[in-house]
Amino acid sequence: MKKGGISVQTENIFPVIKKWLYSDKDIFVRELVSNACDAITKHKRLVSLSETEESSEEYCVYVTLDKALKTLTVSDNGVGMTEEEVEKYINQIALSGALDFISRYEGEDSNGGGIIGHFGLGFYSAFMVAENVEIKTKSYTDAPAVQWDCKENGEFEMGPGNKSSKGTDIVLHIVESEYEYLDYEKIKSVLEKYCAFMPYPIYCQEGEKKELINEVLPAWQQSPSDLKDEDYNALYKKLFNDYRDPLFYVHINADYPLNFKGILYFPSMRNSMESNEGCIKLFYNSVFVADNIKEIVPDYLYNLSGVLDCPELPLNVSRSYLQDNTYVRKLSAHIIKKLADKLIKLKNEDFEKYCVLWDVIKPYIEYGCMKDSKFYDRVSSGLLLKKTDGGYTALADLLDGENKDDIKLYYTTDPRQQSYYVGLYADKQIPVYVLDAVVDTQFASFVESKGKNVKFLRVDSAFDDVSASAEKDEELMSLFAEATGIDGAKISLAALGADDAPVLIRCGEESRRFADMMRMYSALNGTESGAPVDEELIVNTANTAILKLSSMDAEKSKLIAKHFYLMALVASRALTAEELKSLFETDRLITELI
Ligand code: ADP
Ligand code: MG
Repeated sequence: MKKGGISVQTENIFPVIKKWLYSDKDIFVRELVSNACDAITKHKRLVSLSETEESSEEYCVYVTLDKALKTLTVSDNGVGMTEEEVEKYINQIALSGALDFISRYEGEDSNGGGIIGHFGLGFYSAFMVAENVEIKTKSYTDAPAVQWDCKENGEFEMGPGNKSSKGTDIVLHIVESEYEYLDYEKIKSVLEKYCAFMPYPIYCQEGEKKELINEVLPAWQQSPSDLKDEDYNALYKKLFNDYRDPLFYVHINADYPLNFKGILYFPSMRNSMESNEGCIKLFYNSVFVADNIKEIVPDYLYNLSGVLDCPELPLNVSRSYLQDNTYVRKLSAHIIKKLADKLIKLKNEDFEKYCVLWDVIKPYIEYGCMKDSKFYDRVSSGLLLKKTDGGYTALADLLDGENKDDIKLYYTTDPRQQSYYVGLYADKQIPVYVLDAVVDTQFASFVESKGKNVKFLRVDSAFDDVSASAEKDEELMSLFAEATGIDGAKISLAALGADDAPVLIRCGEESRRFADMMRMYSALNGTESGAPVDEELIVNTANTAILKLSSMDAEKSKLIAKHFYLMALVASRALTAEELKSLFETDRLITELI
């Protein structure tokens, strides 16, 4: 019988393990089960290399609870270990790992959940909950079985064992304060969290009860050609406890040099009571590592949910590691590329369906384009503009159209409120686009800034395309100049339709955008601030009422001109108190004349 002390070279590693790893004891389950799966994978590899014969029994892992004995046992039928291997991989490696661990983290505060594993302390995490651990193992070779016992104080004994079939049983004698780990439901839920997708069947059992925990081949480990939409949706619902199908998904299967797999989902519309924040789960060869990883997907896609399986990242990733890592940046770039490609594919496959999708994803995509020029370049052919008639046009088609030199795109920020102006364009079959979200108008400015000779114009900012030029008429000009009551008021004449409004207010595009922006910021800051909009009075010389003004007596025509001006203001914006007073006064005077 061989005896020894795990702690020969240090004071004692166990108090340290306990202290440092206190924060997340559950992970001992993950560590032991993933060791068990590793042992099976090793055996499979040996079989494939013809180094040993195929197993007659199904590869699997059991997590068995025994309340009477107060034990939790993790058993596998993998490679097992010889005495030399236990000495080398458990006694010595663990020891050096522990020394490294202590020297690095002593005196520092940290949550140890991520540290374990990295220093070869995976197996020893068992001591977070056990006062005493046994290893019963038999190598797949002819070597005899080994029995290893270790007490909480770090003393171990190793000698011949009586296990007859290949594989390993790790028996944890649970310490009294951790008896919750003898509870079937507790262990089952921990297994479901960490081991739901491990590569071999994992059973949780107690007495007669026995349940399969995992899905041996999760969707992301399969080839996209073997999967249907339903498979993807089922995984989404299972992982994220959502009863709705996602809007779409992207399955990524990246080879060298990135070597990762993943499925990302764009969730369905949420109501305002629900959080829109997505959740990215990180796996390491199907072993769950961490939830809610924000660092890999850019913030403009914060609503994405999904799984990423990255064997290139260590099992014990930390947030700071992810934040400042070249591999993660490449990963992120690849994800963005794939997402953009998927959108283009959806657009090409079923345009009508894509239009419905577009209404939901638009703000994210537009925001993403502004934040990330690579994303913009990649997704630009998938960008749409919605029209007031309910149709959609690809922005790229407009930008690459015939009139390359001077592209004017008319839009409305509020189709109902601006319906009169929209109607002017509809009559002339000029499309009007709906930019009704805050991000839309910002995005329009962004597209303009991209260098193309394109200009977005709100329907009330230019009437050139819906009117003909009018002959000079000084009298009409001065009549309306007086009607506004403003010194140096801007006035011009244009011939719209005979039934179109007699007078319209044109709002300068730039000044209005600036005023809108100021209003948005002041709303955000809770302050009152605005900026003046550059307004111009457009007199419709083709309007039948305007044509009659010249033949009226001066007093009448002045009153009516003033009335037209005020009505144009009403159509354009909310009136100030003075303007409103002036409107009532004008109307009163008009009734006196009749
Ligand atoms: P790691 O898994 O990172 O190597 P662990 O502390 O988890 O570190 O395990 C140490 C070593 O002990 C493993 O590399 C493996 O060689 C051996 N080992 C642990 N558990 C088993 C098992 N169930 N079957 C065979 N070997 C095992
Ligand atoms: Mg391990």
